[in-house]
Amino acid sequence: MTSDIDKPTIVGALACQRDSFLFSGFQTEVVSCNENKSKDKPRYEIELKDTILFPEGGGQPSDSGCIKLVGTDELIPVPSISRRGLHAMHHVDTEIQPGTKVEIIVDEAKRIDHMQQHSGQHLLSSILESSEFNAKTLGWSMGGIPTVKKPILEPSEYFNYIEIDRKLSIEDITKASKVINDIISMKPLPISVIERTPEMHEQVDSSKVPEDYDLEKGILRTIHIGDIDSNPCCGTHLNSTSQIESILILPNQTSVRGTNYRLYFMCGHRVRDYAQKTNKIISSIKLSLSCNESAIDEKITKLKDQVHQSSKREQFWIKELASYETTKIMNCINKNGKAYLLKDEFGSLEFLLQVFKELSPRLMALDKPYQIVLCGREGIQTGNPVGSLIILSESGETIANTVKELSPLLTNMRGGGGKNGGKWQGKITKFADIEWDALTIHLEQFNTE
Ligand SMILES: [Zn+2]
Repeated sequence: MTSDIDKPTIVGALACQRDSFLFSGFQTEVVSCNENKSKDKPRYEIELKDTILFPEGGGQPSDSGCIKLVGTDELIPVPSISRRGLHAMHHVDTEIQPGTKVEIIVDEAKRIDHMQQHSGQHLLSSILESSEFNAKTLGWSMGGIPTVKKPILEPSEYFNYIEIDRKLSIEDITKASKVINDIISMKPLPISVIERTPEMHEQVDSSKVPEDYDLEKGILRTIHIGDIDSNPCCGTHLNSTSQIESILILPNQTSVRGTNYRLYFMCGHRVRDYAQKTNKIISSIKLSLSCNESAIDEKITKLKDQVHQSSKREQFWIKELASYETTKIMNCINKNGKAYLLKDEFGSLEFLLQVFKELSPRLMALDKPYQIVLCGREGIQTGNPVGSLIILSESGETIANTVKELSPLLTNMRGGGGKNGGKWQGKITKFADIEWDALTIHLEQFNTE
């Protein structure tokens, strides 16, 4: 459906590109409303006579906002806007007839964030391209965009990056950060846009203009930062470098495509959010480790060493105890062919397997029938007790009978093996006290049989 009203404004001359600080109260008309064919987008795509909602472009993601029907309180959410050739398409779930008068509302906080990152990127790239640093920007990517799948981001995900053609030293980054923060705070520069009609296009490098943007009919825009930078760009920008607020550039860069490097940075309110979030994390680490920031590294190294030592010590005692228990078990086997081992709390499978390892050669040398049950329980203190169970016999039938006897006592027991004799191994996914007690009483009979 298309109305006969005036043609819509083309992307390049949209109201949001001419004045990037229009966030609400902008009235316009619906030019067309068509059903969307792609399944992963809202049902309808709407083109307006003009719009203050920016479609994605120039590395800047799409705005979001609302369309309000004039004279009503009805707000129709616009989760995304995309560019198709020279047209800005608003994706919505509600059909709006062409000719309908509407008012547009922009998600202001999101747009300002995008502008802070985007204008910040232009400034960063222009300073790094100066003769002092000689690092050319080959591309950029804006990070920190929450998605439906991941609405809350990790602080490290707030970073954007530019891809540059050389690695910067820490001194370069310190120096560039100071120069840029000076241009943001102490000596701010105006940011302005020049719209160039087709006959003026030759004055500018148009190599980065997307292929589906018809330059013959379109508008080429250049973004100027004072007189230090001029770049073709379709994005929405701040009016002054002071609105970038601040920039944080990370010294660590990642190598890409041979000799290129990704340099990570963030601007504006993100820097404050990042500082607050990381401060919260550091405070909680300090509290856990009872130390200052400067000692965190040392403390963690020490803890890792301690864990390593404890684990080695545990291995030693597991072996010692397994050897001791094996002797006890073999004494019982020699007496009446039956033995059991119960280890409550810290009765890990690892311990049971160590006992099994010690027992194996002795059982191989045995020339009489045997029946052994090894059972351990863990996780009592955490309120989630689980268990491990090993049944040993030279006879598959004895193993099957033992499993049959124990099954009614241990309702959450699963396992397998030992069909022809040898080892049956299983676990008890929930091991209540009452079941442990019942198993203990049952196995005590081994001593008297
Ligand atoms: Zn740009």
